[in-house]
Amino acid sequence: MLRNMYESIKAAVTARKAAESFGLTVNRSGMAACPFHEDHTPSLKLDRRYYCFGCGATGDVIDFTARLLGISNHDAAQTLAERFGIQPESQSVITPKIKPAVPLRTLEQRCLFALVQYEKLLRSWKKQYAPQGPEELFHEKFVEGCQRESFIAHLIDEMMDADPWRRKQAVELLLEDDHLHCLQDYVLQNQEEEMKMNICKRNEESGNGGYCS
Ligand SMILES: [Zn+2]
Repeated sequence: MLRNMYESIKAAVTARKAAESFGLTVNRSGMAACPFHEDHTPSLKLDRRYYCFGCGATGDVIDFTARLLGISNHDAAQTLAERFGIQPESQSVITPKIKPAVPLRTLEQRCLFALVQYEKLLRSWKKQYAPQGPEELFHEKFVEGCQRESFIAHLIDEMMDADPWRRKQAVELLLEDDHLHCLQDYVLQNQEEEMKMNICKRNEESGNGGYCS
């Protein structure tokens, strides 16, 4: 019964809708200042679920509410049910929001591939752009590497989990708002940039002209 209630709430209320109802300002791209860490730029992505690029906080609408209000998941579910008028006995058929046209297994592989590529970039940025001295300003790619690596690693873990439900959750997160395509484009673009930069560096080192600089 309780499980049913949780599912009804999750089907009816997105993390974004709940956040807005609790007074968080969510911008048009679904980002908000994260209430779970000291956040100066909106790092919290809110949709059906939530995740924060800054602190890695992630979960569903019930986790979100529990964490935000500092109450148990059980109380959070009750709060949401009252606030959004959801009946525990409503056995409404939950239609999955995402009906992939391609089989899940293929999607999983695509997601995993994009994530692994991105993680590789983040790792290399952490080394390549690490500040050389205490006075040097942090390079934005170094910051991105530090902020996102653990969250991406967490997603990769989820994608490799034996439990198909967890893998499916991770895939859905990546498919929301076309994240996967954005990530693929972003990774590709950055890989090309890095490649060009490395070629330039090699040319400079071997004295093959400075047209790159
Ligand atoms: Zn955060």
